[in-house]
Amino acid sequence: MAEYDPENIFAKILRDEIPSDRVYEDHEFVAFRDVAPAAPTHVLLIPRGEAPTGPEALTDDDAAMLGRMTLTATKIARDLGLEPGGYRLVLNNGVDAGQTVFHLHMHILGGASLGHVA
Ligand code: 5GP
Repeated sequence: MAEYDPENIFAKILRDEIPSDRVYEDHEFVAFRDVAPAAPTHVLLIPRGEAPTGPEALTDDDAAMLGRMTLTATKIARDLGLEPGGYRLVLNNGVDAGQTVFHLHMHILGGASLGHVA
């Protein structure tokens, strides 16, 4: 997997060089609405700083961070009212999965029946 590019779009969003509709932030993570939503609610959750480029770049050192990221995603989903109906958390890795931004991100999708993909 390629080196981290500090000019990637999510790095620019973190630096407020590109506007975003933020729904959550803490010292470690930022979440904002996807510009091209694939569901009625579609939020992207990203770590601050120079994140792993994607799932394939994760190491054992990232295990606790990924756990906190997942727990944060469930909190955001609950806060956005997605919990009663359910929601989907997605990590895309590489070309076949359609990964376009190489800064680790978790999609939070919900607000409608999403169909069965796996
Ligand atoms: P990927 O396909 O890499 O897993 O997901 C990247 C996501 O970032 C896509 O769903 C895409 O719509 C979203 N995205 C790309 N550029 C921007 C942007 O400038 N702002 C926001 N909010 N989302 C973006």
